[in-house]
This record gives sequence, C-alpha cells and structure tokens, in this order.
Amino acid sequence: MRIVRFLFVIFLLPLVSAAQDIAIRAGNLIDPATGNVTKNQVIVVHDGKITSVGGAVPSGAKVIDLSNEWVMPGLMDAHTHITMNLPVNPPGESLWESYYVKESTGVRVLRGIHTGEILLNAGFTTVRDVGNNGDYGDVAVEQGIEKKWFHGPTVIPSGKIIGPFGGQFNHIAPEQGRFWQFEYIDADTPDELRKAVHQNIFYGAKVIKLVADNSAFHYSVEDIKAAVNEAHEAGEKVAVHVYGGQAATNVIEGGADSIEHGWDLNDDQLKMMKERGTYLVGTDFPLEHLIALGQMVQIDPKSRAVSIIDRLRRAYKIGVKMAFGADVVVDLPGKSRSDMAFDYLKSFKQAGVSNADVLRYMTTAPADLLGISKERGAIAQGLAADIIAIPGDPLTDTENLRKVNFVMKDGEVIRRP
Ligand SMILES: [Zn+2]
Repeated sequence: MRIVRFLFVIFLLPLVSAAQDIAIRAGNLIDPATGNVTKNQVIVVHDGKITSVGGAVPSGAKVIDLSNEWVMPGLMDAHTHITMNLPVNPPGESLWESYYVKESTGVRVLRGIHTGEILLNAGFTTVRDVGNNGDYGDVAVEQGIEKKWFHGPTVIPSGKIIGPFGGQFNHIAPEQGRFWQFEYIDADTPDELRKAVHQNIFYGAKVIKLVADNSAFHYSVEDIKAAVNEAHEAGEKVAVHVYGGQAATNVIEGGADSIEHGWDLNDDQLKMMKERGTYLVGTDFPLEHLIALGQMVQIDPKSRAVSIIDRLRRAYKIGVKMAFGADVVVDLPGKSRSDMAFDYLKSFKQAGVSNADVLRYMTTAPADLLGISKERGAIAQGLAADIIAIPGDPLTDTENLRKVNFVMKDGEVIRRP
C-alpha cells in the first residue's frame, strides 16, 4: 500500500502540476484580425495551448492578473537575420564580404540564441529567419529552442539563400574561390533550383529563400516556378528578395509567396500582387538604419528613405497583403535588436498605415504567410499560448509595443509585470 502511494506521488503529481490550468484576466483583449477590443476577458491556458477565451476562471486555476493591460497575440517578424551582424565600424570602411569569412557557424548560432532571447522578451514569439546564418545555423537555433535548452521565439528557418552564381556578391577575385557557398547555394537553371530546394529541405529549412536580382542574370518566370512548385510540393513557402523591375514581375508571375523588400515596385506590380495574394514583406527601413546600412552597400539613405515610405503608402492604398519584417542586420550603438525592430513602426506611421493594420501585419498576417495560422498568431481556442501584454494601448499608439511587460510562450511565462 505504501509503495503504491509512493508511486502515485512520484508519477502522478508532476503530471497534475504540468497540466494545471492557467487563467489570464485580460482587462483589454485585442483581436488584431478585426482591431476590436473586448473588456475583462478570461483566457484559459492548459499545457501550452489556449483552451477557452471569454469563459470563467476554472476552479484550481493559477490566475495571472492583467486587468490593467492590453493583451494580444505574440508578435511575429517575418524577416529576421538573428544570427547575423554586419560590422558598421569604422564608417565607410567595412567590407560586406568580410563578415562572411570571419565568423563561424558556431558563432552565428550563439548570436542567434542571444538575439532570439532578446526578441522573445520584447514580445516577438515567432520569427521567420531568411538566411545568412552560415551552414544552416538558423536550423540549429530552431532546434535548440524547440528542445527547450534556451528560451526563444518559434523560428522558421530558411537555411541557405538560393541565388544565381555568386550569392549576394559581385566582382570577387576568381582565386578567392566560391566562399559564398558557406551560406548561399548557386542555382542558375530550373533543375539547379529544384535541387537547391531539395538540399535546403533535407537540412531542415522550413521556408525557401531566393535572391532574384543580385546579378544581371535575374530569375525567369520559369526559374521561379520551378522553385515554387518544388517547395509547395513539400508544403513550404517561398520568400524572394527582389527590389523591382522585370525581376520582380517574374517573381510575382512565378507564384512566390512573398516579396522581400520590393522597394522599387511600381503600381502595376503592386496591383498584380494584390490580385494574386502575394505578400509584401517590405522591410521598410527607417532613415537611421539606412544610414548604417549605407556604409556597406551602395545606397543613398535619404532618397531611399523617401522612396520606401512612398512604396509603403502605395502598397497600403492598393491593398496588398503585408507582413511585418524588420531585416535588422546591424547593431546600432545603444540599441537592442528589439529596439531596432520597433524603429520600423515609424515608417508605417509616416506612410499613413492605421495602427490596427500594423498590429495585424505583426500577428495574423504573418501567421498566414508563414502557413502557421492553425497553430499560432491569434488568441483563440486550440492555438498555442503565445500571448503578450502591454501597459498602454497599442491601437492608440503602436510605440506602446516597446513597453511589452508580459510574455507567454507556448504557455510558459517568460516575463510578467
Ligand atoms: Zn534581409
């Protein structure tokens, strides 16, 4: 009898405590899909999932009181490079290429874990990482977080970036070899693209990232279709880095799921995207970030900032589907990666995007683009409990998102007021 009781205590108690209900009292519950706010709702979480919204507090539940807060689903960033940091000092002297040959995949993975933790603490519970992570470093970060060795957001990794010969470089001396293959796959024909997609999926990529317009040999419609068909066959989406011109038209016609950047898209292209349901992940850099980036790549920050806001305003007016993507690749002095991600909110304001739409671009829209709407992205029964809270209303001012003081990831409290 005593042995039986002993076994009961050992084996059953941990199960009972792991499965305890958590009831969150949400003073103001935001539904980003509609922009509606409902008052004094109870969200019940059980074993990492949301089991009810708007009911009563179950007896025996652990109560988390967020009565004075605005509660919403965790934020998503559809365009991160969490393992990457381009050197910005000394100004004007940094070589874009130097970074790629100086840092090992191991270092990148450690940075990815570090960045992931910062983003999660700030309220980003899911990120889509779109490359530049060495030899599948983002897959390693994803696995470490999934195994719960580290706290971090859900990571949708892209593995290596697929592009025409040369990755995102130009004019490398032939005797340097193809060093870019450390994190790019050269693919110049539909067959090579199919093979590159296979390789990435084999090594753990959950999204396919192409660069379409870095060289004179941008991808044809047929090329894009080959990659898209192959990826879709395996249930994966395709994100394509492209700025504009014929390369962008080919990407849209080829059926890519999202255009990354698209800074030079014209109205006809934006209309085509709307018709086809192609997402724009605009990575709408604020001016100060462009200045830092301009030290490494040839852009004029001021005129670029103007054109980015103009493109964002036009895309919004036309009604293109959009998802938030920050594309932070440098560390500005005194700022964290999450500070820098929130800096992009300024661009949306300047382009006249409503606060409600910004919240949608950071939650339900990326969940749709990433193909995870049935798992995450909303506060609804059956979805993962990725929940954040803010002591100020982000629908009144999106800058309040910087004040996130409660984060729950898969039902686990990461921080609370
Ligand atoms: Zn990027």
